Amino acid sequence: MTERLTWIQQEIEGLKENGLYNRIRTIGSPQGAWLIVDGKRVLNFCSNNYLGLANHPRLIEAAREILDRYGVGPAAVRTIAGTMEIHLELERRLAAFKKVPAAITFQSGFTANLATIPALVGKEDVIFSDELNHASIIDGCRLSGAPIIRYAHCDPTDLERVILENQGKYRRALAVTDGVFSMDGDIAPLDQIYEVTSKHGVMLMVDDAHGEGVMGKGGRGIVDHFNLHGKVDVEVGTLSKAFGVVGGVVAGDPLIVEWLRQRGRPFLFSSAVTPPDVAAAIAAVDLLEESTDLVDRLWENARYFKAEMKRLGFDTGKSVTPITPIMLGEAPLAQQFSRELFEENVFAMAIGFPTVPRGKARIRVMISASHSRDDLDKGLEAFAKVGKKLGVI
Ligand code: PMP
Repeated sequence: MTERLTWIQQEIEGLKENGLYNRIRTIGSPQGAWLIVDGKRVLNFCSNNYLGLANHPRLIEAAREILDRYGVGPAAVRTIAGTMEIHLELERRLAAFKKVPAAITFQSGFTANLATIPALVGKEDVIFSDELNHASIIDGCRLSGAPIIRYAHCDPTDLERVILENQGKYRRALAVTDGVFSMDGDIAPLDQIYEVTSKHGVMLMVDDAHGEGVMGKGGRGIVDHFNLHGKVDVEVGTLSKAFGVVGGVVAGDPLIVEWLRQRGRPFLFSSAVTPPDVAAAIAAVDLLEESTDLVDRLWENARYFKAEMKRLGFDTGKSVTPITPIMLGEAPLAQQFSRELFEENVFAMAIGFPTVPRGKARIRVMISASHSRDDLDKGLEAFAKVGKKLGVI
C-alpha cells in the first residue's frame, strides 16, 4: 500500500469500530421471494422487487428479443447517437401510464435527481427540502448550488413557514420531497404540500421511487394517489424497484422534459440506458396496464403481514405502504435480530444510525407480490421466535 492511501485504511477501520462498515452479502440466485445469500437459501425480505418483475418471464423475453435485434449497448449518450426508437417508445409509454404529457428516462433514479434539480435551480434560487429526503435528492440539491432550506418531515405548515421566511430573497424556488419515505414507509401529504407551493408560486417536485408501481390506481404512483396530475411539476421515478429493471424517469410538463433534454447533465454526458433494459421496462408497463393483479397482491400481502406483526406485538411505526419497519430502538439489538433471523432462514436488514436517527434502529421488511401466503407465514413464525428470544415481544 502506498503511503498516500493509508488514510483510507484508517477511515475504514473507523467505520468498523463505529459499526458503520457495510458488509455486503452476495446473491447467488435470480431475484425472487427466496434467494441464495452467501450460499444459503433464505426468504427475501430485503429487495425493492415489489411486484416480482425482476425475474418475470415477460420481461426476460422482451429483453432477449431486443438483444437479438439491437445488441447490448447504446454506444453513445442520448444527445449524440444513443437515442434509439425504443427509448422514445418507453418514454411515450411511461408518460401515458402516468397520465402526464411527457417523460424522459435516465440511467437510474439517482441520476434522474442529479439531472433534474440543478436544471431547475441555481445559486440565485432556493430549495425547500423535506428533512428526511433521499440521498440522491440531497446530492442533486447540493450540485445545484442553490441554498437548501430543510422543513420538518411531512409538515406543510413548516414548509409554508420557511417559504414565508425566505420570500423576496431568491429568483425561483423549488420544493422537493420523497413521495414514499423508504425507511419508515410513510407518505408525503402531497395534496397539502401542493396547496402551499401553488399559493406561493413555488415549483413542486416529488421523488416517487418507492411509489411507482405501488401507489395510485394500478401502481401509477403517488401523484395519481392524490389525483394531482398536471399539478405536481416534476415527478421523478425509478425503473429499478417495482418495474424490476434499472433506470430513472422524470415525468410531467413537456417544457420540463424538453429542458432536461437540453440541460440534464447525465442525459448529455453519460451513456443511454441499454436496449435490453429499455425493452424489459416497456414489458413492465405492458403488464401494469393489462392488469392490476400484481399491485393488488402486493397490497394484500402488505396488509396481511403488517396486521399479523401488530397482532404478535411488534411496533411497525408509521408505515402505510409495503415498506414495513419493525421498530427496535438500539442498533445492536436490531443487528442481533437480523442475524438471528438469518439463522432462521429469513433475510431482513437491520437499519441504524446514520440512515435513521439514533435510538430508532429497526429491521426493515420489504413486502413483495412475489411472496406467497406460506412465505409470509414462515417469516412471521421466524419473527415471533426471535422476538420472544430477544425479549422484544
Ligand atoms: N430516490 C429514492 C427515494 C430511492 O429510494 C432511491 C433508491 N434507493 C433512488 C431515488 C435511486 O433510485 P435508483 O436505484 O434507480 O438509482
